[in-house]
Amino acid sequence: MTSREENPARPLVSSPADAPIEVVAGVFVRDGHVLLCQRAADVPYPLRWEFPGGKLEPGESPADALRRELAEELNVHAHIGEELWHSQAEYPDGMRFHLRFYRVSWDGTAEARAGIAQLRWVPLSELEHYDVLEGDREFCLVLPWLLDPENVDADDVFMRVALLEAQRAYAEGEVPVGAIVVHHGRILARGRNAVERKQDATLHAEMQVIREASRHLGRRLEGCTLYVTLEPCPMCAGAIVWARIPRVVFAAADPRAGACGTLYNIVQDERLNHRCQLRGGVRAEESAELLRRFFQQLREQERGVDSRNTGK
Ligand SMILES: [Zn+2]
Repeated sequence: MTSREENPARPLVSSPADAPIEVVAGVFVRDGHVLLCQRAADVPYPLRWEFPGGKLEPGESPADALRRELAEELNVHAHIGEELWHSQAEYPDGMRFHLRFYRVSWDGTAEARAGIAQLRWVPLSELEHYDVLEGDREFCLVLPWLLDPENVDADDVFMRVALLEAQRAYAEGEVPVGAIVVHHGRILARGRNAVERKQDATLHAEMQVIREASRHLGRRLEGCTLYVTLEPCPMCAGAIVWARIPRVVFAAADPRAGACGTLYNIVQDERLNHRCQLRGGVRAEESAELLRRFFQQLREQERGVDSRNTGK
């Protein structure tokens, strides 16, 4: 047991080990293009693309930090506009970041300086294909919708964010299912299947995001939409009913365990006291392909183990 009684020297402020690092990023949009910079070869996460910006210094406001970073990196005096988005990211090396994206503008021309190899104006339609840093991936998906909500399908955008979570689950050796909870156009919770990693059969992606969203809103998730890359099972459909989630959007149907219209339809059962609106099939093929690849790889690994065991 570690406590402050045992270790009075431990500071009361949270250390970087348990708090994410605060990062601000600037979003300069001009004629359907957005400015990205490529990191230099000699800085952490080299040669990847990102929105300009950086870490907050102690005591600095986000706007001051962004103004300073843009002066250092791009040699511009920036006007800081509204916050467009904030998100969280965990990098493969275990570093966790909390990112805020602000609309910015400046007069004159930016030049690549400290830690930056080159700058590029990227068409918004190509943004999703850029090899951006982990923390900027979600924002690259949502930015076209933030700028033009009338003409971009929000369900499609948020399902792609849930698919990012599914890909992370895949990389962790989990059945690749991801989920998010969206409340008034903002992501309240992000989660992915963690059954193997945590050896807990209840840790489906939906259960995790329902728990996380409930920490913000309480036990009734009114006004929320849950996005999940695979049709919810009976356990998760039950939790969706109990949490009173008004709308569920899923990608692939699940013929083996689906409880949102395939095997059962728990979330729209007239006998229960809550029913939710359903939309299935959003990016279904992408999700199904990820699942197929995962199970194929698993079978190949199992065959490999079999042939070693039998000496064949
Ligand atoms: Zn489930």
